[in-house]
Amino acid sequence: MSPSKRRNRQGRGNAKRRRELRGLVAERDGLHCHYCRVPLAADLSDSTLDHYIPWALWRVNLLCNLVLACEPCNARKDDALPVVFVWLLLRAAAVEPGRFEVAA
Ligand SMILES: [Zn+2]
Repeated sequence: MSPSKRRNRQGRGNAKRRRELRGLVAERDGLHCHYCRVPLAADLSDSTLDHYIPWALWRVNLLCNLVLACEPCNARKDDALPVVFVWLLLRAAAVEPGRFEVAA
């Protein structure tokens, strides 16, 4: 886990709020890791909340940006953008040439 992710975990709500958010995400997505699809414990004790678009890039705790992840997947993803999200950005750039310009 990167130092920025570890630092950001502190002070972002209390444990009760994080448990509530995990429950809401589990109701929405089911009891499995978003990335590897491994089933998670019913009490979510083995789950983590992950910001799909990394906290380092978008500092909000909106439910739409939260997914359940097992610890290994969360640690592996770290502050990286999901491959699917990067693909969508590249696709958007390809559809609209000139929309994204490379800085010199
Ligand atoms: Zn996983």
